[in-house]
Amino acid sequence: MVKENLMEVESRVQAACKRAGRPREDVLLIAVSKTKPVELIREIMETGTKDFGENKVQEMCSKIEEIKEPLNWHLIGHLQRNKVKYIVDKACLIHSVDSLRLAEEIQKEAVKKGVDKVPVLIEVNMAQEASKDGINASETEELVREIAKLPNVQIRGLMTIAPFVDDPEENRVHFQAMRRLRDQLKAMDIPGVEMTELSMGMTNDFEVAIEEGTTMVRVGTAIFGERNYAI
Ligand SMILES: *Cc1c(COP(=O)(O)O)cnc(C)c1O
Repeated sequence: MVKENLMEVESRVQAACKRAGRPREDVLLIAVSKTKPVELIREIMETGTKDFGENKVQEMCSKIEEIKEPLNWHLIGHLQRNKVKYIVDKACLIHSVDSLRLAEEIQKEAVKKGVDKVPVLIEVNMAQEASKDGINASETEELVREIAKLPNVQIRGLMTIAPFVDDPEENRVHFQAMRRLRDQLKAMDIPGVEMTELSMGMTNDFEVAIEEGTTMVRVGTAIFGERNYAI
């Protein structure tokens, strides 16, 4: 079941890439496995998928422990400073850095654990929703310049969680604005900063995000089915 879902998502990713005139390799499909059991992750692994996304540190750590095979674990959810130590050497990419204090904690723990570079994305609240984490677009440059000074924290790009809307077309403006912001920051050539990645697009809107230039989509429900938080 989940394998068929993944194949379906894969063909939609391919179609969106084609519409946008982009090679398929430009877009990383991250299977968001939060709340889902390890057995389902193993089924998805059989397709050759290596990139999985989790939003809770503890859940990610226990899944890493249970699944011994090396995978690329993306931390996509809000990260508390006191949890940084558990994942600084385990996440292939932390998508949700939105403050200097958090980045400083990552720096500190990276040194302790001997991690040369911790790759991160800066989370931007592009639609300025009160309920969402992330910094405002206008604050991004300053934060990037500050974090760039931390030798063991490597900025790779930007991430956003777009509003939950019925019509994904409504999010196109936010994806376009994200891409412009990424391109502006990239043009500044800030030393130590690699502004190549854009992490945006989820089950509801990943095709629009691909059309607007995202390099990573985070897809949960369309692959693993609805999440049941009551269990
Ligand atoms: C849960 C989650 C996703 C996946 O959402 P779906 O709508 O199920 O695809 C993507 N990004 C983040 C940050 C999430 O927390």
